[in-house]
Amino acid sequence: MIDFRIEPELQAKLDWMATFVREECEPMDLLFPGHGAPYDVANKESRAYMAPLQDQVKAQGLWGCHLDKELGGPGYGQLTLALMNEILGRSYWAPTVFGTAAPDTGNSEILAMFGTDAQKAKYLQPLMDGTIVSCFSMTEPQAGADPKEFTCRAWREGDEWVIEGEKWFSSNARFAAFLIVMVVTNPENSPHGQMSMLIVPTDTPGVEFVRHSQTMGDSKGADDGTHSYIRYNKVRVPLDAMLGGPGEGFKVAQARLGGGRVHHAMRTVGKCQRAIDMMLERAVSRRTQGKQLSEHQFVQGAIADSIIELEQFRLLVLKTAWIIDNEPHGAARTHIAMCKVQMAKVYHDIVQRAIQLHGSLGMTLELPLADMWMGLPAMALADGPTEVHKVQVAKAFLKNATPASGLFPSEHIPTRLAAIRARG
Ligand SMILES: Cc1cc2nc3c(=O)[nH]c(=O)nc-3n(C[C@H](O)[C@H](O)[C@H](O)COP(=O)(O)OP(=O)(O)OC[C@H]3O[C@@H](n4cnc5c(N)ncnc54)[C@H](O)[C@@H]3O)c2cc1C
Repeated sequence: MIDFRIEPELQAKLDWMATFVREECEPMDLLFPGHGAPYDVANKESRAYMAPLQDQVKAQGLWGCHLDKELGGPGYGQLTLALMNEILGRSYWAPTVFGTAAPDTGNSEILAMFGTDAQKAKYLQPLMDGTIVSCFSMTEPQAGADPKEFTCRAWREGDEWVIEGEKWFSSNARFAAFLIVMVVTNPENSPHGQMSMLIVPTDTPGVEFVRHSQTMGDSKGADDGTHSYIRYNKVRVPLDAMLGGPGEGFKVAQARLGGGRVHHAMRTVGKCQRAIDMMLERAVSRRTQGKQLSEHQFVQGAIADSIIELEQFRLLVLKTAWIIDNEPHGAARTHIAMCKVQMAKVYHDIVQRAIQLHGSLGMTLELPLADMWMGLPAMALADGPTEVHKVQVAKAFLKNATPASGLFPSEHIPTRLAAIRARG
């Protein structure tokens, strides 16, 4: 039975969140701008401003809402989380205020799933409390989309792992208390069994920041971005720094990236809705050729296309969340890939139309639209490029496709008619 209604109790929570995000989190975007700002735990001013807001979120039982009960969270499940993340997606501070910001969400999930009791006490608890932030250090300068090309390695020396190599685009590493680093430990194994995850405190000797790359939209100096290029110079960590077993790096990464991708998609629904809200307001606020923008059919078309595309995308995200909640682990893989592909496209098309409708103002830094536009390429790259996910979707369906039994396709009308008539 498909039922699109939302329970009144949940709706009340969502309503509270929507008001709170608009009135309390969106102001933080303006007061403390910059995509790295929510991760800068050393900024006393922003942390002091945020602390009472986080207390309100906790009092509502909405803190860390991505984690299941057995992992120490409230256990709302992915479908409810999808509705919540839609609201949080409107503000880039909101996920931090609600204790559910990436990459800490994914990192806390793998710590909860694969961590030892000691690792959980040391890293997971402060992460869930929001007192520290973390980094996932996987991509390398020479290879990203295909982890089989990674070369950063670690080997055992006595009771330590020694890490040597480079990592690239390790987001928020400069603010992070620890890095989860994917390293080659078992080159003798088959490609998917060669890597492991090591937890490295960021202040470990040998962790060298080559630079902090900026992305478009960052406005400060050349080395003031949030995506770190890191060199691991024979970094030593104890044997018990491994997360999961030797050779289980791929397994751990998969467990993390699936959730991360669908959470991004959920938040993107909220970002698209915000752009549509802006289009609607603009359409009824501005006049041209003697009538409101909203009375021009091109404008109506842009609005209708945006609403329809978002509704389709939203249903895909909700169905994906439902599969995660209700089907065996891994069953949503193809749907997560679909969400990943579609989120970049829908976001691009809607933000482009919203900018167009705002004319010159849409291009300025005086509206959130320019910031959204500069975030577009990241949607199609972070957590794997669109192409890789398209290939995954196609292969999932192609593996069950069967070749036509004869010269013509099975839908060939003359052939089918001949077969039907032959039945007599
Ligand atoms: C904003 C942002 C944040 C990020 N944060 C992190 C992070 O915290 N930690 C981390 O480890 N990484 C992070 N990344 C890195 C991200 O995971 C990689 O950018 C991504 O996996 C692609 O790798 P690459 O950049 O090396 O591109 P490449 O692997 O060089 O790919 C470049 C292009 O080649 C094409 N291509 C690649 N593979 C295929 C294929 N199989 N078929 C067809 N075409 C293909 C695509 O057009 C692709 O965009 C982040 C990236 C961004 C943009």
